[in-house]
Amino acid sequence: MTPLILVTNDDGVRAPGLAILAQALQGVGRTVIVAPDRDNSAASHSLTMTRPLRVKELGGNRYSVDGTPTDCVTLALGKILSCKPQLVVSGINPGPNLGDDVSYSGTVSAAVEGTMLGVPSLAVSLAGEDPFSYETAAAFAARLARTILDKGLPRDTLLNVNVPNRRSEEIQGVRFTRQGRRVYDGAIKETLDPWGRQHYWIGGGTPFWDEGEDTDAQAIIAGYVSVTPLHLDLTNHKALRKLEAEWVLTI
Ligand code: MN
Repeated sequence: MTPLILVTNDDGVRAPGLAILAQALQGVGRTVIVAPDRDNSAASHSLTMTRPLRVKELGGNRYSVDGTPTDCVTLALGKILSCKPQLVVSGINPGPNLGDDVSYSGTVSAAVEGTMLGVPSLAVSLAGEDPFSYETAAAFAARLARTILDKGLPRDTLLNVNVPNRRSEEIQGVRFTRQGRRVYDGAIKETLDPWGRQHYWIGGGTPFWDEGEDTDAQAIIAGYVSVTPLHLDLTNHKALRKLEAEWVLTI
C-alpha cells in the first residue's frame, strides 16, 4: 500500500522549501500538504483556541489553514485527511533549528504534534543563510522518510534534521547528535517609532554555541548533516532522582 505522508511547515503554504520537500517525497508516498496560510516562524507549539480556523483547499492535494503549524497538523489528522498518515514531514525551513532554537521552532513543533498524535515525524531545516538551495536537503529527507517507513521510530520520538546549505559533494556525511545550546547575543533591537517612542524588536543577533561534543551545532560547523532524536518527555530523569534523594518538600 502506498504510504500517506502529511507535509507541513511554519513558513507558509507558498514557501519554496515546502514545495521542494513535497516534490521529493512524492517518490516515497502519496503527499498531502496542509500548511499555514502565512509565515508562522517562531510560532513554537501554539494552538489557536480564541477564534475559529478556516481551511482552504488549493487543489493538487494542498490545503492552507489560517493558523499555526500545530493547528495544521491537528486539523489534518482530525479532519482533512481521509485516514491517518504513515509519516509527518515538516520543512524545509530556510535557516537552522539547532540547540535552543528547537523550543521556538514552528517547524519542529509540527513534528512534535505529529508524534503526540502517534505518527512518526521529522523536521527538516537548512542550516545556513540566503541564498538557500533546498535540493540536497529534500533528497536526504526523502531517503530518511523511506528509512523511517521501513524501520519506524522509537516511541514518543521525532527526528530533528539540519542539513548544511551546501552542495551535496561538499557535505562530509551524516551524524546522529544531541541537542546543544545555542544562545543569541544582541537579539533585542531598541529603536524609535515614527512618533519618537521607544520600541523593541526581537530577532537577528549573533548566535554562538556551547563547545559540547556530539551536539547538533557542532555537526553543522564540521560540515555534516545533523540528525537529533528528540523525546516528547522533557523530564530530566537524573535531576528527578537527585531531587527525590536530596530534597524534602512538605505542604
Ligand atoms: Mn520558519
